[in-house]
Amino acid sequence: MLEIRDLHASVADKPILKGLNLTVNPGEVHAIMGPNGSGKSTLANVLSGRDNYEITGGEALFEGNSLAEMEPEERAQAGLFLAFQYPVEIPGVSNMEFLKAALESVRGAQGKEEWDSVTLLRQARAACKQVNLDASFLKRGVNEGFSGGEKKRNEIMQMMLMEPKLALLDETDSGLDIDALQVVAKGVNSLRSPERGIVLVTHYQRLLDYIVPDFVHVLYNGQIIKSGGKELALELEQKGYGWLTGEEESA
Ligand code: ADP
Ligand code: MG
Ligand code: MG
Repeated sequence: MLEIRDLHASVADKPILKGLNLTVNPGEVHAIMGPNGSGKSTLANVLSGRDNYEITGGEALFEGNSLAEMEPEERAQAGLFLAFQYPVEIPGVSNMEFLKAALESVRGAQGKEEWDSVTLLRQARAACKQVNLDASFLKRGVNEGFSGGEKKRNEIMQMMLMEPKLALLDETDSGLDIDALQVVAKGVNSLRSPERGIVLVTHYQRLLDYIVPDFVHVLYNGQIIKSGGKELALELEQKGYGWLTGEEESA
């Protein structure tokens, strides 16, 4: 489903990813961990097609198609839900208007039935309920004045409605409280299915107490230096990253 081969990428002309390999098959949940500054968010941004993130070598294929050649909207239409694909804040555009446009684009491209406004509202309200977000948030400007936890709930709500084939979430260390973490976990777990791949970039071992991954990868200095099963996350929690990176202490 997702095949990343020898990927090299730069941010503002600075090489960050230096030969990264990763394969994600349908049904699999992968966690990508690693010390601060190792390139985790860069990977998420490159796959999202964010401005200023440039692939300089290797390839990232989604169902055989090169992501580098797809616009962010085409990536969404192909069934990807990626970190930062959805703008952080769009003042003046309500959450509901935004969802309507995004769902029309994606469902249309995938040949799924169009939701009329009644269905859309029902689905959106149900998704809000699942993430404990009051339905009044549907009327507000996208992410406008949302707290960190509300933005996170909103993102997971969007993801649930989009029903992606592959979801990639970047869980930064920006101080999500335990409630928000559990919302992420609940949302991700509800999307687990044999047809769907999930990549969770995370700085938290704690999140993996709630989302048990099939595979854990350690990203360091722009490469995946170790892969294992869920037990690797526990080992990292006990031992840190130094035994893998050769550094005494790592953040
Ligand atoms: P992680 O998510 O693993 O903590 P990042 O991908 O955020 O790591 O960062 C990897 C490296 O890329 C860091 O050295 C960071 O300073 C650098 N970097 C990230 N974004 C930019 C940018 N926009 N301009 C310059 N350097 C950047
Ligand atoms: Mg970081
Ligand atoms: Mg990061």
